[in-house]
Amino acid sequence: AEQEGFAPEEIEGELSAAGHGPLPVLAVVGRPNVGKSTLVNRILGRREAVVEDRPGVTRDRVTYEADWNGRRFKLVDTGGWEQDVLGIDAAVAAQAEFAIDAADAVVLVVDATVGATDTDEAVVKLLRRSGKPVVLCANKVDGPSGEADAAALWNLGLGEPHPVSALHGRGTGDLLDAVLDALPEAPAQTFGQGTGGPRRIALIGRPNVGKSSLLNKVAGEDRVVVDPLAGTTRDPVDELIELGGKTWKFVDTAGIRRRVHLQEGADYYASLRTAAAVEKAEVAVVLIDASESISVQDTRIISMAVDAGRAVVIAYNKWDQLDEERRFYLEREIEQDLVQVQWAPRVNVSAMTGRHVEKLVPAIETALAGWETRVPTGRLNSFLGELVAAHPHPIRGGKQPRILFGTQAGTRPPRFVLFASGFLEAGYRRFIERRLREEFGFEGTPIQVSVRVRE
Ligand code: GDP
Ligand code: GDP
Repeated sequence: AEQEGFAPEEIEGELSAAGHGPLPVLAVVGRPNVGKSTLVNRILGRREAVVEDRPGVTRDRVTYEADWNGRRFKLVDTGGWEQDVLGIDAAVAAQAEFAIDAADAVVLVVDATVGATDTDEAVVKLLRRSGKPVVLCANKVDGPSGEADAAALWNLGLGEPHPVSALHGRGTGDLLDAVLDALPEAPAQTFGQGTGGPRRIALIGRPNVGKSSLLNKVAGEDRVVVDPLAGTTRDPVDELIELGGKTWKFVDTAGIRRRVHLQEGADYYASLRTAAAVEKAEVAVVLIDASESISVQDTRIISMAVDAGRAVVIAYNKWDQLDEERRFYLEREIEQDLVQVQWAPRVNVSAMTGRHVEKLVPAIETALAGWETRVPTGRLNSFLGELVAAHPHPIRGGKQPRILFGTQAGTRPPRFVLFASGFLEAGYRRFIERRLREEFGFEGTPIQVSVRVRE
């Protein structure tokens, strides 16, 4: 019951989508009964969110599409999170943390007739540390006599308190103008899917592993150069290549085609180029020369893709050159040096002979699917509930931290937030991550799990 109380299951898809939709996300946070839902309704111009006089009422939906002066955004009402299982402070802090994670800007609603409470102050601290833009709504200022109450909220240190009566509409226009100023434009880069564009691949690996050979092999004469920047060989070039019946965009291929001569700083520039390609891509195909020992440079390149949160496929090239002995040692090197990416699909290819090159596309598709996986909150919590019951955290100093609730805050890659009653040891966190993978797959994608401790 505790786990359900934190966030109703109905909101699941919307919450996890919130951070990654094409529209910027505005979260409305604040203590129970300050008028968040009333404000949301006011902004939407209709009575869609349920407003109740008592705190703790679970609402049907929490994410709405809204617009103001022609600008569209997503509006998240965290009112439904106000459950008293953990106390109001914990619930409100959770809202704030969600808002910090998933929202592009935050409206903090304070009841001006009550003034700033300790809970308000605590939330302000969290919000301020996050660096997210915050607009302060001094609510329940129904008439001019309330203006002084609103002004008192300057004390919170969040800048100008905007006096508003969510109930009557007073001041909401000015508030929304301030919100739009704070809210960034829709994220500039929306990923390929949904926008209909080709998926973006970065083909990366240290010099001489066979990147340009592989590119030539898979593309043949079909490649189309896109985004060429005239007259410069330094600039990135993307190429559209048809593979397995689909068109893919290989990003920054200029660096692949140009032979990198050994010179001072070459490694540095190669690594900058790799980082830039990874940044632009959705999936990284990391090429490794299987005929040689896996090097620190190989693992560093893999880490770049993982740390950037990209889907990852590992291709072992020059397979035509492997004898029995090398194969044996290769497997041992993989076990030793690449444990942290055991989840990445693997293909053994030869850019020279074309061996298994056709397996690249299925591996890429698997990785992208893992990258986009979304676990419903209900399923996640029943899984966590069983897991925690069967494998409780070890008792430390007489206390036993428990996972109270979890939610997937985003995809591409999957990001999870676990709310726990105490600090979770690293070993236990790794255990949870491992079990999450066993249960839900996530092949080909890094996953991020963060833990929020409720004291
Ligand atoms: P939430 O739980 O924080 O979302 O708050 P609600 O939107 O449910 O509002 C709580 C109570 O405050 C309700 O009875 C509202 O009618 C009332 N309320 C909300 N905004 C205002 C306002 O601007 N002025 C006055 N007087 N009451 C308000
Ligand atoms: P890049 O620097 O990663 O783009 O690597 P290249 O594609 O230029 O390849 C470096 C060298 O490895 C060239 O001499 C290629 O002919 C050779 N090479 C690439 N792929 C293979 C392969 O699958 N098998 C063998 N035997 N040689 C390869």
